[in-house]
Parts: sequence; C-alpha cells; structure tokens
Amino acid sequence: MTTSPDAVILKPNLYDLAPAALDAALRETVSPSFRAKQIEEWMHTRGVASFDAMTNIPKELRAQLADRFTIEMPAIVEVTPAAPDGSRKYLFELADRQRIEAVYMPMGDRTSVCLSSQAGCAVGCTFCVTGFFGAGRNLTPSEMLGQFFTIVREHALPLEQMNVVFMGMGEPLLNFENVVTTLEVLYRSIAPKRITLSTSGIIPEIERLARLERRPNLAVSINAPDRQRREEIMPITKKYPLEELIAALRRFPAEKGRDLTIEYVLIAGYNDSEKDAVALARLIRGLHAKVNAIPLNEDANLPQWMKRPNDAAIDHFVDTLVNHNVRVTVRRSKGLDIAAACGQLRGRSEARSRLSRQPELAERRVDRPGRIEPAREKRNPVHRERR
Ligand code: SAH
Ligand code: SF4
Repeated sequence: MTTSPDAVILKPNLYDLAPAALDAALRETVSPSFRAKQIEEWMHTRGVASFDAMTNIPKELRAQLADRFTIEMPAIVEVTPAAPDGSRKYLFELADRQRIEAVYMPMGDRTSVCLSSQAGCAVGCTFCVTGFFGAGRNLTPSEMLGQFFTIVREHALPLEQMNVVFMGMGEPLLNFENVVTTLEVLYRSIAPKRITLSTSGIIPEIERLARLERRPNLAVSINAPDRQRREEIMPITKKYPLEELIAALRRFPAEKGRDLTIEYVLIAGYNDSEKDAVALARLIRGLHAKVNAIPLNEDANLPQWMKRPNDAAIDHFVDTLVNHNVRVTVRRSKGLDIAAACGQLRGRSEARSRLSRQPELAERRVDRPGRIEPAREKRNPVHRERR
C-alpha cells in the first residue's frame, strides 16, 4: 500500500491485485463490464496513478472508485542527473517514509528499469550497501509496479520496448508472493523473456520459481569461485551451499533462447585473478549460462579494502573466461557515476545518522582483517604492479 496509514487500512490499492483478482474486484463494483476492462487498461497498459487520469471513465464512477480504492504510487524524492550512458537513479519514498531506489537505463532501442523488491536486505552480502544497512520490509506489488510505471510515465516509454530487472534493493525471492503478483501484472504488457530476476541463491524459492508456468529470466549472484570465499562475502552460502546452488541451477528448466545469467562482482585482488576465472568457468561448466562481470561499485560504507579492479585486470579476467568457452558481458560504467549498485543513493542520505546510531555496524563492516592484503598479493601479484 502506498498511501497514508489510514488508507492502508481502509482502501485497498488496486495495484496490489493480480489481474484475475483485480478483474473480480472491479466487476463487483463497476458496471457495465466494459468499464472494468477500461479501468484495467488504464492501470496495466498506461500505469496511471490516479482515477482522475482515467478520462474516458465517467466522473461519478471515478469518484466512487476513489472512495473505495486507491491506485497511488510511491513518491519520487530525488532523481540523479543522467550518467554518460543516460541512466538515472530514482529515489522513492513509501507511505511509511522508507526510501527505495530504482534505475532507468536507456539501451539503444530498448529501455531497462531496475526495481527494488525490499526496503533493505537481510542477506547481508559484505560488498553491498543495501546489505550493509540490513533488513527491511517486503515491498508490496503496488510499490514495485509504482517504481516501474512512474519511470515509464516520466520518460513516456512504450511498454513494448521495456525490459524489467529485479536487481535493485532487496532479495526478490524472499518476497516471493508479492514479486509473483507483480510479474503477473507486468506480463500483461511485457513478455516473460524481457524480465529478469536476480537472486543471491535462495534454493527453495528457485525451485518454486522453476515450477511456475511463466518464468522470468533468472540471474544468480555467484560472486566467488569457491565456497569458502562465497561464505566470506555472501554469508547466505552457509545456509545454501554453493555446490547445492549450482545443482539447483542445473535442474532449473531451460527455455529456448534463454540463458541463465551468472553475476560476478569483481573485487580487486580478491576474486579477479586468472585462477579465479578458471575456477568460475569450471564451476559453471555445462550450465546454459552467460556471465555478467560487474566491477565493484566502491562506496564509503563498504570495507576499505574492497576496490574496483582496474581495466587491465577486468579485461584479463574476461579474456580468461572467454578462452574457457564462457560467454561474458561486462557492466563497465552503467550508472557508475550515479552510484549504480542499489542502496548507495539511499545510503548517502542515511549513512551518517545510521552509523551514529549503530556504530557497531561501521566496525563490523568497514574494516577488514589485514590478512586479505597478503592474500591479494599471493593470488595475483601482477595486479599490484598494474595499480
Ligand atoms: N538480491 C539480489 C538482487 C539485488 S543485488 C542479488 O543479490 O542478486 C543485484 C546485483 O548487484 C547482484 O548481482 C549483486 O551482486 C550486485 N551488487 C551488490 N553490491 C554491489 C556493488 N557494490 N558493486 C557492484 N555490484 C553490486
Ligand atoms: Fe541483498 Fe543482493 Fe545486496 Fe546481497 S547483493 S545484500 S542479496 S541486495
């Protein structure tokens, strides 16, 4: 729900309903039935945020709808200037004052919108600003659709040219039901193959996703070539071990023309050596997958030692994967100027107050034991010279 606390209780937000439930709710309230279709059209193909925008609906009916329901969306509080690649980050405020981020990314003749699924994240990856700030509540479908449709309306984007990625703040598979409802609404105008959900590897929910009739593309944040290092930077690995995750991905139903995406955040001197690339290639051998290498977005809230590798190191990592027959894309600078990895924009506005309230967080994450530096030299001495 996205309106005032009163409205949360009194008025359901129609964007929280899956298409069949919306249809049922409208048919109970609205007659003749073609009006229900018109209202659904205003919502699902135009993404309007007020009944008054529904200009072909009689004023009286609009007023009746507004008495019973809401279709409000989160409010924009900040939009960053366009990065060199045109991307912009949106900071939204929810009804309970929490802040979340979404990113608009023009990509030639298509446009991607990156959505947040939670107002924080309990998974706690050590390289992630959202993880640093800790758990937050699940977003409702209206809050996820609100991010999407607000950006679509702001830029007057045609829905048939849209891609959607759930790669913003939060772990979408820990908000499974709401994400599935959101997907069902998105499918009304966007093909499942145009939608990608990124997960840190919640195995039981990956299996639930596998059983759905219509599935988005799956991206999985692997980020380390072995279990020990993945446990260090992604503590969720202790619950869902890397080997079991890879086995679950092998069972995930492959669809024609679709690949899994293996996301791999490159951290200088930590997981970016030639040996790491070879180990990654071996780990994912036989999967219908491509790797998306993501050079780390540095941030003051992350451990000091976590740096983005230089371009030569990134190139060498990618070339090694390619030489091992792995398809790779590199996210070079998309949104880097606007602090692209989600959580960073909110992090800038919250960092000081949060840290002064919870200094133990700063100590826990900002400083890393010194043993990492020798490991960096041992693993890839050549990197030191390049830097
Ligand atoms: N929770 C989901 C989706 C949100 S995170 C997941 O983890 O997959 C989306 C992507 O951003 C993940 O691949 C994650 O590894 C990456 N990411 C997080 N922090 C980052 C940072 N500081 N720099 C670069 N990528 C980052
Ligand atoms: Fe959560 Fe994803 Fe960040 Fe990990 S990388 S803390 S799963 S948002």
